[in-house]
Amino acid sequence: MSKFDDGCIFCKIVKGEIPCHKVYEDEYYLAFLDIAPIDRGHAILVPKSHATDLLTLETEYLDKLGGVIAHLCGELIAKLDAVGLNVTSNIGARAGQIVMHTHFHLIPRYEGGDPLNWHSGAGDHSELAKLAERIRGEE
Ligand code: 5GP
Ligand code: ZN
Repeated sequence: MSKFDDGCIFCKIVKGEIPCHKVYEDEYYLAFLDIAPIDRGHAILVPKSHATDLLTLETEYLDKLGGVIAHLCGELIAKLDAVGLNVTSNIGARAGQIVMHTHFHLIPRYEGGDPLNWHSGAGDHSELAKLAERIRGEE
């Protein structure tokens, strides 16, 4: 059963109180483009229920997670002509977690790109909107 935290930015995105460039949604999960992408199509996958990290995520969400990640990785690679992808989840501030609502970074990688590049940069909103449409298969 979903629960929300009023002060949490990702809960606000899930509830539609803050806009996002959505790339995937089902009953349990939502994915949207990161506002500060590390590479083109960098997406954030969040459960539609508040949990600080994977260790406290409810079982029904954990049960669906693998299938959703695999599906979304495939979609991002295929729709964006990527040649690889990083999946990461930061658990705790010392691991770099800033938003305390558990999430996965899905970062497509491209031919000629630098796999060691983990620098993020502010995304352009109209570009993010177009990319999200492409990933959703609407263009
Ligand atoms: P963390 O360091 O917690 O794993 O990463 C949080 C990520 O969420 C960062 O990459 C950051 O750019 C992204 N982020 C933070 N606030 C927002 C937001 O309001 N909208 C979107 N789309 N991404 C956000
Ligand atoms: Zn939350």
